[in-house]
Amino acid sequence: MSYLKSIQNKVDEILPSSAEITKVELEGPEIAIYTKNPAAFQENERLIGNLVSQLKKRVKVRADSSLLIPEAQAEKIIRKLIPEEAIITDIKFVPAFNQVLIEAIKIGLVIGKGGSTLKQIIIETGWTPEPVRAPVKESEVLKGIRYYLAKHAADRKKVLKNTAEKIYHDQEKKNNWLKLTCLGAGREVGRSCFLLESANSKVLLDCGLNFAASHPAELYPRFDLLNLPLSEIDAIVITHAHLDHSGFLPYLYTMGCKAPIYCTEPTRDLMILLQMDYIGVTGKEGKGTLYTEKDIMETLKYVIPIKYEDVTDITPDLRLTLYNAGHMLGSATVHIHEGDGEFNLIYTGDIKYGFTRLFNPAQNNFPRCEAIVIESTYGGPRSIQEPRRESEERLLQIINSTVQRGGNVLIPVFAVGRAQEVMLAIEQFYREGRLDPNANVYVDGMARQASAIHTAYPDYLKQNLQKRALRDDSPFVSEVFKPIESERVELAKGKGNVILAPSGMLQGGPAVEYLKHMADNPDNALIFVGYQAEGTLGRRIQGGAKEIPTTDPKTGKIKSLKINMFIDSISAFSGHSDRRELIGYLNRIKPRLKRVIVNHGDEKNAVSLAGYCRNSFKIESYSTRVMDSLLLYGSV
Ligand SMILES: [Zn+2]
Ligand SMILES: [Zn+2]
Repeated sequence: MSYLKSIQNKVDEILPSSAEITKVELEGPEIAIYTKNPAAFQENERLIGNLVSQLKKRVKVRADSSLLIPEAQAEKIIRKLIPEEAIITDIKFVPAFNQVLIEAIKIGLVIGKGGSTLKQIIIETGWTPEPVRAPVKESEVLKGIRYYLAKHAADRKKVLKNTAEKIYHDQEKKNNWLKLTCLGAGREVGRSCFLLESANSKVLLDCGLNFAASHPAELYPRFDLLNLPLSEIDAIVITHAHLDHSGFLPYLYTMGCKAPIYCTEPTRDLMILLQMDYIGVTGKEGKGTLYTEKDIMETLKYVIPIKYEDVTDITPDLRLTLYNAGHMLGSATVHIHEGDGEFNLIYTGDIKYGFTRLFNPAQNNFPRCEAIVIESTYGGPRSIQEPRRESEERLLQIINSTVQRGGNVLIPVFAVGRAQEVMLAIEQFYREGRLDPNANVYVDGMARQASAIHTAYPDYLKQNLQKRALRDDSPFVSEVFKPIESERVELAKGKGNVILAPSGMLQGGPAVEYLKHMADNPDNALIFVGYQAEGTLGRRIQGGAKEIPTTDPKTGKIKSLKINMFIDSISAFSGHSDRRELIGYLNRIKPRLKRVIVNHGDEKNAVSLAGYCRNSFKIESYSTRVMDSLLLYGSV
């Protein structure tokens, strides 16, 4: 009997005939049931609870297609049922799922007390309402993503159906081994990518790019050396949106990959934003682009968003759970559970196991864990970050003293992560009246849109920030951040301007434009707040370079840029754990680990952290190189 048939039989068994079920469908890891009597489910909430607990799957209940009323009529009813104060920003009908997406600023008012408004909508219109939070400030990218998802819902449904067929396919072989191959970010930072294989599954963990690559072969994960047909990949898991984890993804789909992509909703949106920014920057620099805007949007059809701590079958023998990684909006640590629980692997992605203004520290409690792959960006013995409070005071002091002497401050930031962390600190200085009143703070480039996306997903933020976002007091839209109305060169040559701009390592982006006009003035200041990878312009300036050769975009001539501005680095804003935090995290993981695999760090940092684990924890520890394969368990 097919899996779908067995589920249909179980649904018939569990639900009373009054539920009037007309159709049961598999949608990737979830089950959708259609009913002619949605009221039966509204009156008796235990019906769904019973289904979920007996099927051990997430279940969605939708009204049968015969109950759908015309869209225009339904929209009128919906607008009448929802109070005006909810501020509806969009209503989209998605016939492929019998769904209506209601985007509003205050989704609590769309839902109603105990879900009463939602219940009313499905009963009066037949359309299943899905409340979606609108960002406080409009974001073009987010709007585009939501439009695309609705427009291509039928294609997404097909992907979900094909995925379910693969997941619930009978296992062909007895699974008795698990192998991990490093395709990138082995003893380096950038192009994170692992291939996890069992007898029945091939899963990719991350798929990034390495911007600091000095040779084209070092830019991408080494798929070329694997001879792996992309059609054989069963699933891809993306930990977070930073391009060193997601930047190569669209390219795989231009080459025939059809695997579902698992990540959180904010990761889905932010990776589209960062990929768009990436092709925009490389396109402008005439470097040619790996993929087009259309290719980026195409990947959206394959994304299956999942929430933290929801357990999801992704192949016949592997089960995935994502946990908060504390690193950026939507960032996740991956937990993979094999077969009958024989083996459990954790892949941290990038983690912050310490204080940040935006997120709770990374989760370190897992149901089971035999081996861990851990990042080591700050894994070296001297990689200790300064205390946060003193660092923030130093940031304030540099900003104020620079503004007072008539200079400008440039803070290169990753568009997502450091930008928002620094924005929150500056917003607090402003609220407390400690920021020099002559300081004009600007947030340039994608960092602005990224901040807007933060306001659409308050659930992923720390509780006090959630509260502020829900009280219409979002720090990201504070008046301290002024809109940019003049040319970059004017801001760079003005007085008292504090500019946050990507890219964080001065590898292109608006930060470099500002730098060119600011570098030679000793009254100006440049403050690094994030990690500067080897080989980047940021690392060279941080290392004390006083002259940088640059190319004049108009004449193509090489000029020398003199660095006379004040330079400082503040490591405490990092979204990465420092050495102490990484060791603290490993120490506190329950249950005790049996093996540590170190990645995502310069060679000396990765080797050093692995050495520490070997000596202190007395367990097997490696710092993996690109193309290393490890048998995680089993015998072959
Ligand atoms: Zn990252
Ligand atoms: Zn990273």
